[in-house]
Amino acid sequence: MTTKTGTASAARPWLDSSANPYLRLVGLEKRFGPTRAVDDVSIDIFPGEFFALLGPSGCGKTTLLRMLAGFETPDNGQILLDGEDLTQIPPHERPVNMMFQSYALFPHMDVASNIGFGLQMEGMPKTRVKARVEEMLALVHLEHLAKRKPDQLSGGQRQRVALARSLAKNPKLLLLDEPLGALDRKLREATQFELVNIQETLGVTFVIVTHDQEEAMTVSTRLAVMREGQIAQLGEPHEVYEAPTSRYVAEFIGDVNILEGTVAPGGQAVELTDGGRAEPGGGRTLPDGPAALALRPEKIAIEQRGESSAPSANTLFGTVEDIAYLGDMSIYHVRLESGSLIRIAQTNRLRALEETITWEDPVRLSWDGSAMVVLEG
Ligand code: ATP
Repeated sequence: MTTKTGTASAARPWLDSSANPYLRLVGLEKRFGPTRAVDDVSIDIFPGEFFALLGPSGCGKTTLLRMLAGFETPDNGQILLDGEDLTQIPPHERPVNMMFQSYALFPHMDVASNIGFGLQMEGMPKTRVKARVEEMLALVHLEHLAKRKPDQLSGGQRQRVALARSLAKNPKLLLLDEPLGALDRKLREATQFELVNIQETLGVTFVIVTHDQEEAMTVSTRLAVMREGQIAQLGEPHEVYEAPTSRYVAEFIGDVNILEGTVAPGGQAVELTDGGRAEPGGGRTLPDGPAALALRPEKIAIEQRGESSAPSANTLFGTVEDIAYLGDMSIYHVRLESGSLIRIAQTNRLRALEETITWEDPVRLSWDGSAMVVLEG
Protein backbone atom coordinates (compact mmCIF):
# COMPACT_ATOMS: atom_id res chain seq x y z
CA MET A 1 0.00 0.00 0.00
CA THR A 2 1.29 3.44 -0.75
CA THR A 3 2.05 5.90 1.97
CA LYS A 4 1.47 9.49 1.07
CA THR A 5 2.86 12.29 3.10
CA GLY A 6 1.25 15.57 4.11
CA THR A 7 -1.94 16.30 5.95
CA ALA A 8 -4.66 13.69 5.88
CA SER A 9 -6.94 15.60 3.55
CA ALA A 10 -4.11 16.73 1.25
CA ALA A 11 -2.98 13.14 0.91
CA ARG A 12 -6.53 11.79 0.74
CA PRO A 13 -8.54 14.50 -1.02
CA TRP A 14 -11.54 12.20 -1.43
CA LEU A 15 -12.15 12.72 2.30
CA ASP A 16 -12.38 16.47 1.82
CA SER A 17 -15.77 17.52 0.48
CA SER A 18 -14.34 20.86 -0.76
CA ALA A 19 -11.56 19.22 -2.86
CA ASN A 20 -12.01 19.38 -6.63
CA PRO A 21 -11.79 16.15 -8.61
CA TYR A 22 -9.35 16.16 -11.52
CA LEU A 23 -10.94 13.44 -13.61
CA ARG A 24 -14.70 12.98 -13.52
CA LEU A 25 -16.52 10.05 -15.09
CA VAL A 26 -20.18 10.92 -15.13
CA GLY A 27 -22.81 8.27 -15.87
CA LEU A 28 -20.61 6.49 -18.42
CA GLU A 29 -22.25 3.79 -20.48
CA LYS A 30 -21.06 1.53 -23.27
CA ARG A 31 -23.07 -1.25 -24.87
CA PHE A 32 -21.93 -3.86 -27.36
CA GLY A 33 -25.17 -5.29 -28.76
CA PRO A 34 -27.01 -6.71 -25.77
CA THR A 35 -23.91 -6.51 -23.50
CA ARG A 36 -23.74 -3.57 -21.13
CA ALA A 37 -19.94 -3.51 -20.94
CA VAL A 38 -19.98 -0.33 -18.82
CA ASP A 39 -23.24 0.46 -17.11
CA ASP A 40 -23.75 3.92 -15.59
CA VAL A 41 -20.33 4.37 -13.98
CA SER A 42 -19.52 7.59 -12.13
CA ILE A 43 -16.14 8.09 -10.45
CA ASP A 44 -14.28 11.17 -9.22
CA ILE A 45 -10.50 10.88 -9.31
CA PHE A 46 -8.25 13.46 -7.66
CA PRO A 47 -4.99 15.04 -8.87
CA GLY A 48 -2.00 12.75 -8.37
CA GLU A 49 -4.10 9.71 -7.58
CA PHE A 50 -3.08 6.20 -8.54
CA PHE A 51 -6.50 4.74 -9.18
CA ALA A 52 -7.02 1.05 -9.94
CA LEU A 53 -9.89 -0.56 -11.85
CA LEU A 54 -10.09 -4.13 -10.75
CA GLY A 55 -12.29 -7.06 -11.57
CA PRO A 56 -12.52 -10.45 -13.25
CA SER A 57 -12.33 -10.97 -16.98
CA GLY A 58 -15.27 -9.40 -18.82
CA CYS A 59 -16.33 -6.99 -16.03
CA GLY A 60 -15.80 -3.95 -18.27
CA LYS A 61 -12.58 -2.48 -16.91
CA THR A 62 -10.75 -2.38 -20.27
CA THR A 63 -13.75 -0.81 -22.00
CA LEU A 64 -13.82 1.88 -19.33
CA LEU A 65 -10.10 2.58 -19.79
CA ARG A 66 -10.49 2.65 -23.58
CA MET A 67 -13.23 5.27 -23.23
CA LEU A 68 -10.82 7.41 -21.19
CA ALA A 69 -8.21 7.04 -23.93
CA GLY A 70 -10.76 7.83 -26.64
CA PHE A 71 -10.60 4.42 -28.36
CA GLU A 72 -14.27 3.79 -27.55
CA THR A 73 -17.06 6.36 -27.68
CA PRO A 74 -19.50 6.25 -24.74
CA ASP A 75 -23.18 5.69 -25.55
CA ASN A 76 -23.97 7.94 -22.64
CA GLY A 77 -22.18 10.04 -20.06
CA GLN A 78 -19.25 12.41 -19.89
CA ILE A 79 -15.51 12.38 -19.23
CA LEU A 80 -14.13 15.59 -17.74
CA LEU A 81 -10.39 16.09 -17.21
CA ASP A 82 -9.20 19.19 -15.42
CA GLY A 83 -12.52 20.85 -16.29
CA GLU A 84 -12.34 19.97 -20.01
CA ASP A 85 -14.95 17.70 -21.61
CA LEU A 86 -12.99 14.97 -23.41
CA THR A 87 -15.96 12.94 -24.56
CA GLN A 88 -15.87 14.11 -28.20
CA ILE A 89 -12.10 14.69 -28.46
CA PRO A 90 -10.20 12.13 -30.57
CA PRO A 91 -7.51 10.03 -28.82
CA HIS A 92 -4.44 11.80 -30.24
CA GLU A 93 -5.73 15.20 -29.17
CA ARG A 94 -6.38 14.21 -25.57
CA PRO A 95 -3.79 15.14 -22.92
CA VAL A 96 -3.85 11.48 -22.03
CA ASN A 97 -1.46 8.64 -22.75
CA MET A 98 -1.96 4.92 -22.55
CA MET A 99 0.63 2.28 -21.83
CA PHE A 100 -0.33 -1.08 -23.28
CA GLN A 101 0.42 -4.49 -21.87
CA SER A 102 2.32 -5.38 -25.05
CA TYR A 103 4.43 -2.19 -24.62
CA ALA A 104 4.28 -1.72 -28.43
CA LEU A 105 7.92 -0.61 -28.69
CA PHE A 106 9.41 -0.04 -32.15
CA PRO A 107 11.80 -2.97 -32.66
CA HIS A 108 14.11 -1.18 -35.10
CA MET A 109 14.63 1.87 -32.86
CA ASP A 110 16.94 2.03 -29.87
CA VAL A 111 15.68 2.85 -26.38
CA ALA A 112 16.35 6.60 -26.64
CA SER A 113 14.57 6.87 -30.01
CA ASN A 114 11.61 4.91 -28.71
CA ILE A 115 11.27 7.30 -25.79
CA GLY A 116 11.71 10.41 -27.93
CA PHE A 117 9.52 9.31 -30.84
CA GLY A 118 6.30 11.03 -29.79
CA LEU A 119 8.10 14.28 -28.98
CA GLN A 120 9.83 14.28 -32.36
CA MET A 121 6.52 13.68 -34.13
CA GLU A 122 5.13 16.71 -32.32
CA GLY A 123 7.90 18.80 -33.84
CA MET A 124 9.85 19.43 -30.64
CA PRO A 125 13.37 20.74 -31.45
CA LYS A 126 16.06 18.03 -31.38
CA THR A 127 18.02 19.46 -28.46
CA ARG A 128 14.87 19.57 -26.31
CA VAL A 129 13.93 16.03 -27.30
CA LYS A 130 17.41 14.90 -26.29
CA ALA A 131 17.16 16.63 -22.91
CA ARG A 132 13.71 15.20 -22.22
CA VAL A 133 14.81 11.68 -23.22
CA GLU A 134 17.75 11.95 -20.82
CA GLU A 135 15.42 13.05 -18.06
CA MET A 136 13.12 10.09 -18.73
CA LEU A 137 16.02 7.62 -18.91
CA ALA A 138 17.19 8.83 -15.52
CA LEU A 139 13.67 8.51 -14.11
CA VAL A 140 13.48 4.81 -15.02
CA HIS A 141 17.22 4.16 -14.35
CA LEU A 142 18.06 3.12 -17.91
CA GLU A 143 20.71 5.71 -18.82
CA HIS A 144 23.22 2.93 -19.54
CA LEU A 145 20.92 1.17 -22.03
CA ALA A 146 19.96 4.14 -24.24
CA LYS A 147 21.53 2.61 -27.37
CA ARG A 148 20.08 -0.90 -27.00
CA LYS A 149 17.23 -2.20 -29.18
CA PRO A 150 14.10 -3.59 -27.47
CA ASP A 151 15.06 -7.21 -28.24
CA GLN A 152 18.31 -6.71 -26.30
CA LEU A 153 16.41 -5.87 -23.11
CA SER A 154 14.83 -7.95 -20.36
CA GLY A 155 11.06 -7.88 -19.86
CA GLY A 156 11.40 -5.53 -16.90
CA GLN A 157 13.63 -3.15 -18.84
CA ARG A 158 11.21 -3.10 -21.78
CA GLN A 159 8.43 -2.27 -19.35
CA ARG A 160 10.45 0.71 -18.08
CA VAL A 161 11.12 1.96 -21.62
CA ALA A 162 7.39 1.80 -22.36
CA LEU A 163 6.69 3.71 -19.16
CA ALA A 164 9.31 6.37 -19.98
CA ARG A 165 7.88 6.73 -23.47
CA SER A 166 4.34 7.17 -22.24
CA LEU A 167 5.45 9.79 -19.71
CA ALA A 168 7.76 11.72 -22.06
CA LYS A 169 4.99 14.00 -23.33
CA ASN A 170 4.05 14.86 -19.77
CA PRO A 171 0.41 13.71 -20.05
CA LYS A 172 -2.20 14.98 -17.60
CA LEU A 173 -3.37 11.42 -17.21
CA LEU A 174 -1.59 8.12 -17.76
CA LEU A 175 -3.66 5.01 -18.40
CA LEU A 176 -2.03 1.65 -17.77
CA ASP A 177 -3.56 -1.54 -19.12
CA GLU A 178 -2.20 -4.52 -17.15
CA PRO A 179 1.26 -2.90 -17.31
CA LEU A 180 3.04 -5.64 -15.41
CA GLY A 181 1.24 -8.60 -16.96
CA ALA A 182 4.29 -9.80 -18.89
CA LEU A 183 6.63 -9.90 -15.88
CA ASP A 184 7.30 -12.85 -13.60
CA ARG A 185 6.09 -12.64 -10.04
CA LYS A 186 9.26 -11.40 -8.35
CA LEU A 187 10.00 -8.75 -10.93
CA ARG A 188 6.36 -7.77 -10.90
CA GLU A 189 6.47 -7.07 -7.18
CA ALA A 190 9.66 -5.02 -7.44
CA THR A 191 8.26 -3.10 -10.39
CA GLN A 192 5.05 -2.29 -8.54
CA PHE A 193 7.02 -0.33 -5.97
CA GLU A 194 9.07 1.36 -8.66
CA LEU A 195 5.88 2.38 -10.46
CA VAL A 196 4.52 3.94 -7.28
CA ASN A 197 7.80 5.82 -6.71
CA ILE A 198 7.80 7.21 -10.24
CA GLN A 199 4.16 8.18 -10.01
CA GLU A 200 4.76 9.96 -6.70
CA THR A 201 7.86 11.72 -8.05
CA LEU A 202 5.99 13.11 -11.06
CA GLY A 203 2.59 13.64 -9.44
CA VAL A 204 0.88 12.54 -12.68
CA THR A 205 -2.58 10.99 -12.22
CA PHE A 206 -2.51 7.27 -13.05
CA VAL A 207 -5.44 4.96 -13.79
CA ILE A 208 -4.46 1.31 -13.96
CA VAL A 209 -6.47 -1.70 -15.06
CA THR A 210 -5.59 -5.01 -13.50
CA HIS A 211 -7.24 -8.30 -12.65
CA ASP A 212 -4.60 -8.86 -9.94
CA GLN A 213 -6.00 -7.79 -6.60
CA GLU A 214 -2.64 -7.81 -4.83
CA GLU A 215 -1.26 -5.49 -7.46
CA ALA A 216 -4.20 -3.12 -7.13
CA MET A 217 -3.82 -3.13 -3.35
CA THR A 218 -0.07 -2.43 -3.57
CA VAL A 219 -0.06 0.42 -6.03
CA SER A 220 -3.34 2.24 -5.65
CA THR A 221 -4.51 5.15 -3.55
CA ARG A 222 -8.08 3.92 -4.18
CA LEU A 223 -9.58 1.17 -6.23
CA ALA A 224 -12.91 0.28 -7.79
CA VAL A 225 -13.97 -3.35 -7.97
CA MET A 226 -16.14 -3.84 -11.04
CA ARG A 227 -18.86 -6.38 -11.67
CA GLU A 228 -20.80 -6.72 -14.91
CA GLY A 229 -20.14 -3.17 -16.01
CA GLN A 230 -20.91 -1.58 -12.64
CA ILE A 231 -18.90 -0.61 -9.59
CA ALA A 232 -19.37 -3.15 -6.84
CA GLN A 233 -17.30 -1.17 -4.34
CA LEU A 234 -14.95 1.81 -4.39
CA GLY A 235 -12.56 2.75 -1.62
CA GLU A 236 -9.04 2.77 -0.28
CA PRO A 237 -7.37 -0.67 -0.46
CA HIS A 238 -7.63 -1.29 3.27
CA GLU A 239 -11.33 -0.34 3.32
CA VAL A 240 -12.21 -2.70 0.51
CA TYR A 241 -10.14 -5.48 2.10
CA GLU A 242 -11.22 -4.95 5.69
CA ALA A 243 -14.81 -3.90 5.07
CA PRO A 244 -16.12 -5.48 1.88
CA THR A 245 -19.80 -4.74 1.51
CA SER A 246 -20.69 -7.81 -0.52
CA ARG A 247 -19.76 -11.44 -0.84
CA TYR A 248 -18.58 -10.72 -4.39
CA VAL A 249 -16.02 -8.16 -3.22
CA ALA A 250 -14.97 -10.17 -0.16
CA GLU A 251 -14.26 -13.19 -2.33
CA PHE A 252 -12.55 -11.22 -5.06
CA ILE A 253 -10.20 -9.26 -2.79
CA GLY A 254 -7.99 -11.79 -1.06
CA ASP A 255 -8.82 -15.02 0.68
CA VAL A 256 -11.88 -15.11 2.83
CA ASN A 257 -14.00 -17.53 4.82
CA ILE A 258 -17.73 -16.90 4.61
CA LEU A 259 -19.63 -18.02 7.70
CA GLU A 260 -23.38 -18.41 7.23
CA GLY A 261 -26.02 -18.43 9.90
CA THR A 262 -29.19 -16.98 11.31
CA VAL A 263 -29.38 -13.84 13.40
CA ALA A 264 -30.18 -14.69 17.04
CA PRO A 265 -33.02 -12.87 18.85
CA GLY A 266 -31.80 -9.43 19.89
CA GLY A 267 -29.66 -9.02 16.77
CA GLN A 268 -26.28 -9.15 18.53
CA ALA A 269 -25.17 -12.60 17.44
CA VAL A 270 -25.37 -15.08 14.60
CA GLU A 271 -26.06 -18.79 15.19
CA LEU A 272 -23.64 -20.32 12.72
CA THR A 273 -24.65 -23.14 10.38
CA ASP A 274 -21.25 -24.65 11.23
CA GLY A 275 -22.16 -24.72 14.92
CA GLY A 276 -21.26 -22.14 17.51
CA ARG A 277 -22.13 -18.55 17.77
CA ALA A 278 -20.54 -15.49 16.23
CA GLU A 279 -20.72 -12.13 17.94
CA PRO A 280 -19.53 -9.39 15.58
CA GLY A 281 -19.65 -6.73 18.32
CA GLY A 282 -19.52 -3.05 17.50
CA GLY A 283 -22.94 -2.46 19.07
CA ARG A 284 -24.71 -3.00 15.78
CA THR A 285 -28.14 -4.68 15.76
CA LEU A 286 -28.48 -7.12 12.87
CA PRO A 287 -31.81 -7.52 11.12
CA ASP A 288 -33.63 -10.84 11.67
CA GLY A 289 -33.05 -13.61 9.18
CA PRO A 290 -30.07 -15.19 7.46
CA ALA A 291 -26.66 -13.54 7.73
CA ALA A 292 -23.27 -14.01 6.10
CA LEU A 293 -20.03 -13.02 7.79
CA ALA A 294 -16.65 -12.62 6.11
CA LEU A 295 -13.61 -13.65 8.11
CA ARG A 296 -10.09 -13.34 6.66
CA PRO A 297 -7.76 -16.35 7.19
CA GLU A 298 -5.11 -14.26 8.95
CA LYS A 299 -7.59 -13.05 11.59
CA ILE A 300 -8.11 -16.54 12.99
CA ALA A 301 -5.98 -17.97 15.78
CA ILE A 302 -5.37 -21.72 15.74
CA GLU A 303 -4.31 -23.80 18.75
CA GLN A 304 -4.36 -27.40 19.90
CA ARG A 305 -7.72 -28.35 21.31
CA GLY A 306 -7.13 -29.02 25.00
CA GLU A 307 -9.30 -30.53 27.70
CA SER A 308 -10.38 -27.07 28.76
CA SER A 309 -11.46 -25.95 25.30
CA ALA A 310 -15.03 -25.08 26.10
CA PRO A 311 -17.28 -23.64 23.38
CA SER A 312 -17.64 -19.88 23.50
CA ALA A 313 -18.57 -17.09 21.09
CA ASN A 314 -16.32 -16.65 18.04
CA THR A 315 -14.86 -20.12 18.42
CA LEU A 316 -15.05 -23.21 16.25
CA PHE A 317 -13.57 -26.69 16.60
CA GLY A 318 -12.20 -28.92 13.88
CA THR A 319 -9.38 -31.11 12.65
CA VAL A 320 -6.37 -30.09 10.56
CA GLU A 321 -6.76 -31.59 7.12
CA ASP A 322 -4.03 -29.86 5.17
CA ILE A 323 -1.07 -27.56 5.78
CA ALA A 324 0.72 -25.55 3.13
CA TYR A 325 4.11 -24.29 4.31
CA LEU A 326 4.91 -21.16 2.30
CA GLY A 327 8.10 -20.15 4.12
CA ASP A 328 6.95 -16.85 5.56
CA MET A 329 3.58 -18.26 6.49
CA SER A 330 1.57 -21.45 6.74
CA ILE A 331 -1.96 -22.02 5.53
CA TYR A 332 -4.06 -24.51 7.47
CA HIS A 333 -7.19 -26.13 6.13
CA VAL A 334 -9.35 -27.15 9.04
CA ARG A 335 -12.35 -29.44 8.63
CA LEU A 336 -15.06 -28.33 11.05
CA GLU A 337 -17.35 -30.74 12.84
CA SER A 338 -20.09 -29.58 10.45
CA GLY A 339 -18.04 -30.74 7.47
CA SER A 340 -17.13 -27.24 6.19
CA LEU A 341 -13.55 -26.27 5.51
CA ILE A 342 -11.94 -23.12 6.97
CA ARG A 343 -8.66 -21.52 5.90
CA ILE A 344 -6.32 -20.07 8.48
CA ALA A 345 -3.11 -18.17 7.70
CA GLN A 346 -0.40 -17.92 10.33
CA THR A 347 2.88 -16.06 10.04
CA ASN A 348 5.87 -18.28 10.81
CA ARG A 349 7.56 -16.11 13.36
CA LEU A 350 9.75 -18.83 14.85
CA ARG A 351 12.20 -20.83 12.78
CA ALA A 352 11.31 -24.18 14.23
CA LEU A 353 8.10 -24.47 16.15
CA GLU A 354 8.42 -26.86 19.02
CA GLU A 355 4.77 -27.61 19.38
CA THR A 356 3.85 -27.47 15.74
CA ILE A 357 0.26 -28.14 14.84
CA THR A 358 0.16 -30.97 12.38
CA TRP A 359 -2.19 -33.06 10.22
CA GLU A 360 -5.14 -34.71 11.98
CA ASP A 361 -4.67 -32.55 15.10
CA PRO A 362 -7.89 -31.49 16.82
CA VAL A 363 -7.80 -27.70 17.01
CA ARG A 364 -9.65 -24.74 18.39
CA LEU A 365 -10.15 -21.72 16.17
CA SER A 366 -10.93 -18.32 17.62
CA TRP A 367 -11.10 -14.72 16.49
CA ASP A 368 -11.96 -11.30 17.66
CA GLY A 369 -15.55 -10.21 17.01
CA SER A 370 -14.34 -7.05 15.27
CA ALA A 371 -12.46 -9.17 12.69
CA MET A 372 -15.75 -10.26 11.14
CA VAL A 373 -17.56 -8.26 8.50
CA VAL A 374 -21.29 -8.59 8.04
CA LEU A 375 -21.94 -8.88 4.31
CA GLU A 376 -24.89 -7.05 2.89
CA GLY A 377 -25.25 -8.58 -0.54
P1 ATP B 1 -10.43 -8.74 -19.51
O1 ATP B 1 -9.77 -8.70 -18.18
O2 ATP B 1 -10.68 -10.13 -19.98
O3 ATP B 1 -9.77 -7.87 -20.55
P2 ATP B 1 -12.42 -6.70 -19.00
O4 ATP B 1 -12.92 -6.61 -17.62
O5 ATP B 1 -11.40 -5.73 -19.41
O6 ATP B 1 -11.93 -8.17 -19.31
P3 ATP B 1 -13.94 -5.76 -21.26
O7 ATP B 1 -12.88 -6.10 -22.25
O8 ATP B 1 -14.12 -4.34 -20.92
O9 ATP B 1 -13.72 -6.59 -19.92
O10 ATP B 1 -15.33 -6.38 -21.76
C1 ATP B 1 -16.57 -6.15 -21.10
C2 ATP B 1 -17.66 -6.87 -21.85
O11 ATP B 1 -17.85 -6.26 -23.13
C3 ATP B 1 -17.36 -8.35 -22.13
O12 ATP B 1 -18.56 -9.07 -22.01
C4 ATP B 1 -16.86 -8.34 -23.57
O13 ATP B 1 -17.13 -9.58 -24.18
C5 ATP B 1 -17.65 -7.20 -24.17
N1 ATP B 1 -16.90 -6.52 -25.24
C6 ATP B 1 -15.76 -5.83 -25.13
N2 ATP B 1 -15.37 -5.31 -26.31
C7 ATP B 1 -16.30 -5.71 -27.22
C8 ATP B 1 -16.47 -5.49 -28.62
N3 ATP B 1 -15.61 -4.74 -29.31
N4 ATP B 1 -17.53 -6.05 -29.20
C9 ATP B 1 -18.42 -6.79 -28.52
N5 ATP B 1 -18.33 -7.02 -27.20
C10 ATP B 1 -17.28 -6.49 -26.55
